[in-house]
Amino acid sequence: MNDADLLRSLGVNPSTLDPAPASRWRNAGPERLRGRRPCVRCGEPARAAGVVDVPGYGRRWLDRCMPCLIATTPRSDGPRAPLADTLAVLREAAREAGVALTIVPGEA
Ligand SMILES: [Zn+2]
Repeated sequence: MNDADLLRSLGVNPSTLDPAPASRWRNAGPERLRGRRPCVRCGEPARAAGVVDVPGYGRRWLDRCMPCLIATTPRSDGPRAPLADTLAVLREAAREAGVALTIVPGEA
């Protein structure tokens, strides 16, 4: 499911979403989440803000509450990245952001 498909499934017209800044990131920083924006699906306060990139509209903020985020996040049936690759991406993101990252094994 691409971003245009996601918005169609949510019944959201991309022209109604706020333009998002150019960046390689697709998630919001805390400044966006402090804005008390409504979830695009149900109107409850949004707890997650992501970026969609739709042809003809560009990058737009997609604000969702947690239940709607979970309910509308596409699940991949394709191959999953090895854990080592995922951890490498997290470490690189933390290095770029200048923050410390500690990964603590959890109980399975
Ligand atoms: Zn919602």
